[in-house]
Amino acid sequence: MRCPKDKNTELLRCKLFDQLSAHQCPNCSGHWISGSDYQGWQASQPSKDAGPSVFWARDDVQYIPSAKDSLAALCPECGNYLTRGKVGMKPPFYVDRCPGCGGVWCDCGEWNILVKLGIHASIPQIFTSDWQLRFRELELLELERLAIAEKLGDDLADKLFEIATLLKQHPKGDFGVAYLMRRLEKS
Ligand SMILES: [Zn+2]
Ligand SMILES: [Zn+2]
Repeated sequence: MRCPKDKNTELLRCKLFDQLSAHQCPNCSGHWISGSDYQGWQASQPSKDAGPSVFWARDDVQYIPSAKDSLAALCPECGNYLTRGKVGMKPPFYVDRCPGCGGVWCDCGEWNILVKLGIHASIPQIFTSDWQLRFRELELLELERLAIAEKLGDDLADKLFEIATLLKQHPKGDFGVAYLMRRLEKS
């Protein structure tokens, strides 16, 4: 079986994680996990309701995506195009999965990040439309926050986000919003 990212390199059998076998590329250090191996291992793991927000809650996990991350690739087992599932952090990266056999490709370093974030047993979830939709919403929210911080400065932006959260949580928060609008109305 050849590496999906460098097609001339033969993958080597290895042990990826506690009870989970995989194949590693000696050239790019990426890992291929067969669909059946992953499903068998996943079934033995406690189920967790992970969501894309784990990526924003963790500023401490630093990662530089592999140069091969953006390459399209074919499944080394059944030849289907691998589907790319965007997983976010700063910067975002992609995990690849075969829609035919369920095999998973992690470029060098990606598996370790998934383990650190506690979502290594939830890889198929990343490829659901629900996850990708929530991911997109979080991404837009983050872009909006960055744009506001750029205009107002970090200190004022932080205060604004705090007030916005407090008003949203308060049952009569709309009174606060109305007050702000009156105060800021141009005369
Ligand atoms: Zn490789
Ligand atoms: Zn496949």
